[in-house]
Amino acid sequence: MNIGLFGGTFDPIHHGHLALARAAKQRCALRRIYFVPANVPPHKQRQPLSSYCDRYAMVVLATLGDKAFIPSLLEAPNSEALSSSFQKPSSPRTVSAANYSIDTVRRLKGTLPKGDRLFFLIGIDAFRDIASWREPEALLAECEFIVASRPGYSLADVANALPEALRPKASVTKPFSKQPARGELVLPGVNIHLLENVHHSVSATAIRESAAKARSLTKFVSPAVAEYIRKMELYQGG
Ligand code: ATP
Repeated sequence: MNIGLFGGTFDPIHHGHLALARAAKQRCALRRIYFVPANVPPHKQRQPLSSYCDRYAMVVLATLGDKAFIPSLLEAPNSEALSSSFQKPSSPRTVSAANYSIDTVRRLKGTLPKGDRLFFLIGIDAFRDIASWREPEALLAECEFIVASRPGYSLADVANALPEALRPKASVTKPFSKQPARGELVLPGVNIHLLENVHHSVSATAIRESAAKARSLTKFVSPAVAEYIRKMELYQGG
């Protein structure tokens, strides 16, 4: 069975995330996609985040409409960190260890039957930093990747983002610098499926700013998520 893992801050989860998941599901015949809100994303440790519980609740609400979309607690914090995460973002928090994708992937794979294929869903903006993630070569070896591209990115950009040990030589990638990032990129230790033009212009940052100005959010997030944000008064600090 083909299984997807889609990790993110999801602060909040929005139409862009869901469009990526729908396109990935169709492209790679994914029977299930686990949406995994990160407890402490390694690259966002200094930025105030909504509580894990609020972000997880929004993922539950946003994924209700698709049987294949499963909210996952794979990166849920321990109970001490969980109670601390209820505090306002500005309050001092219990410091939890950052979540690394390689650990999450290995944990999920440990629960799957041997014949299952695991696909890691990611937007091109995040994929560009993959070489700086923990054990990137191992991560790329553990699962196939589905990367949502957007206009302006070439196949060479995708190849050049790979960790050095897996990156093809510049003389190899150069001819692909004008070729849009689509199709498949298969190299030793790398299997990437590229989704062309799935990227929506919506961003979680812009949504948080709109919420702070009490603007309608239904253009960006599902009605239930918009209602949750309003009811819980999220993002009021600007
Ligand atoms: P922020 O603005 O808070 O950084 P974000 O949506 O970019 O929000 P995440 O929630 O961590 O951050 O994103 C989860 C994944 O979704 C990442 O792989 C990211 O590249 C991808 N993604 C984010 N926004 C979009 C979008 N509009 N369209 C497609 N993919 C997206």
